[in-house]
Amino acid sequence: MTDAREVRTACPYCGVGCGVQARVAADGTVSVRGDPGHPANAGKLCSKGSALGETLGLDGRVLHPEIAGRRAAWDDALDLVARRFSETIAQHGPDSVAFYVSGQLLTEDYYVANKLMKGFIGSANIDTNSRLCMASSVAGHKRAFGEDIVPGVYADFEEADLVVLVGSNTAWCHPILYQRLLAAWAERGTRIVVIDPRRTATAAECDLHLQLKPGTDVLLFNGLLAHLAGCGAVDQAYVAAHTSGFDATLGLAVADAPSVRRVADGCDLDPADVATFYGWFASTERTVTVYSQGVNQSAHGTDKVNAILNCHLATGRIGRPGMGPFSVTGQPNAMGGREVGGLANQLAAHMGFDDPSAPERVGRFWNAPDIARRPGLKAVDMFEAVGDGRIKALWVMGTNPAVSMPDAGKVRAALKTCQFVVVSDVTRTDTSHFADVLLPAAAWGEKDGTVTNSERLISRQKSFLPMPGDVSPDWWIVSEVARRMGFAEAFDHPGPAAIFREHAALSAFENDGARLFDIGGLAGLTDAEYDALVPLHWPFPIGASAGAQRLLGDGLFPTADGRARFVAVRQEGAALPVDAAFPLVLNTGRLRDQWHTMTRTGRVPRLMANAPEPAVELNASDAAAQGIADGDLVRIDSRYGCVRAKARIGIGQRMGEAFLPMHWSGRFAANAAAGSLSAPVTDPFSGQPELKHVPVRIMRE
Ligand code: SF4
Repeated sequence: MTDAREVRTACPYCGVGCGVQARVAADGTVSVRGDPGHPANAGKLCSKGSALGETLGLDGRVLHPEIAGRRAAWDDALDLVARRFSETIAQHGPDSVAFYVSGQLLTEDYYVANKLMKGFIGSANIDTNSRLCMASSVAGHKRAFGEDIVPGVYADFEEADLVVLVGSNTAWCHPILYQRLLAAWAERGTRIVVIDPRRTATAAECDLHLQLKPGTDVLLFNGLLAHLAGCGAVDQAYVAAHTSGFDATLGLAVADAPSVRRVADGCDLDPADVATFYGWFASTERTVTVYSQGVNQSAHGTDKVNAILNCHLATGRIGRPGMGPFSVTGQPNAMGGREVGGLANQLAAHMGFDDPSAPERVGRFWNAPDIARRPGLKAVDMFEAVGDGRIKALWVMGTNPAVSMPDAGKVRAALKTCQFVVVSDVTRTDTSHFADVLLPAAAWGEKDGTVTNSERLISRQKSFLPMPGDVSPDWWIVSEVARRMGFAEAFDHPGPAAIFREHAALSAFENDGARLFDIGGLAGLTDAEYDALVPLHWPFPIGASAGAQRLLGDGLFPTADGRARFVAVRQEGAALPVDAAFPLVLNTGRLRDQWHTMTRTGRVPRLMANAPEPAVELNASDAAAQGIADGDLVRIDSRYGCVRAKARIGIGQRMGEAFLPMHWSGRFAANAAAGSLSAPVTDPFSGQPELKHVPVRIMRE
């Protein structure tokens, strides 16, 4: 028996990216506590993070490769995957195959998968479930700043005098960040404004809750821009020196939102509350505006992001202490995936297909002459192509699209008819049932690599448990398939440290400062230095001794002319309006104690205790109109599907609106997958689906 040991790692759940100390006792049992030395959480953990030690059992794990549902040897499974992908590409071209990956992957896993698909298969058909999470923020950042940049750091939450939370139930979805904000609220009287159609736990504890009509955020922020101009709060010197497009943007904003009264009418708000918010924003230099899935998961998500960014550009409040726009991501490594090019429209290291020289540059670095030269299919389009047979071989890594994608019933039908489906995952999921080849992937605690949280902080995730059965890390599985496809030289990776060094070197390759994502200073880490890497912010270019904290505060932007761009946006109507047949707006989202489709958190009784079954929240008037009482079993129908859940009647919902958690699926409640109700309608810039405004009807069963 060996002595107890403690390993410093990072939480695998939300984008806060807390540090965790995992203690493995001599008898092999694991306990966790917050890492007091980690800058994101300083020793604290939320309910999910503190229960991590209880999620590590082998129940439900995929422990061996399987071919057609039968246990197989690694060599046979890998040979089959490589052969079927190679044959499909030879017959139908590189765009006939696709990877659908995950913000649960580590950066090194993501890097290798992206390199294989874009660099060596020669298609950009690799997209990630982060498409469902924050793609609109990526698109908005690129339109305004020229690159996908989050300018601020978490300390800004504590140094701000006003924090505006838009479409973000921070108290439940980013709990430790919320605790930091509440501590600042108590200490220095930070004002908190919550903009959300629901009265969430976050809205219950703020100075002003704007419970606006769903989807009217652009109108509210266009009104704010008009107000800032009208009251002299625009920083004219900053706008003149560092931006372009202000006049046209302001013109459209004023036409869209000419008065507080018009904004209040359009957003269904009290004009006095709108005026209060506008007054506080105009008069508070240190303002942080936080936005999350309520903004991103929309058919107009990118415009919403830019409406917010416009107000920060107009006031010059970007990248300085206590001020700036701040996108908080859902997943632990949504940022790392963005960095390596995990999105179908990104190439690698923040280079995209919009720069014609970028594919050649990345191709030179990888020695990959057949590199993809145009964007691939984004998630919703990818599954559409699986369904109609354009994509004939699909590899799903670490995610559960059979439940989580919009119009999930159609996604399941597509998976069923696809010629060849590979799933690599930790546990059996709704999606793994469709796998021709199922591959056992290493879980949290077994794998090694890095993740990047919402404030650009790169942290190590470390192994402290042996890999059970035949389980292997994702980077190894992808590399082995690549080697069998004939790309052995490029995928001869000895381990995650070497992959990280290559990723870091690519970020600096032919980078004269035009791209802010540059971690070239980490490209020379030894294996031991990588192992001991302490959390640090990017950029970290060659010669740096510390990662950069805030970005863009100097007014220099990574655009062709160095200026930020105002983006003129107007309030559009709902992409999916309600009607007589489907009169209620359904919103979907997270609960405090659950994560994604509950494959881990669903194992922990104390996390299940607060919400043991799926429940749809309803306004009392809507419930009464249908004769629904609290606790009744109800049927929720949309044009795309039907689910069943218990009714919960409360004060959280506006009249005409309902809320269903996103977590439940086959193992826990087969008929309650919220994705079955959602429409495959997407934002035209980001490709992110509309998950917050689904017309439904709700009837008692
Ligand atoms: Fe994990 Fe997020 Fe909770 Fe931190 S706040 S412990 S990262 S789930």
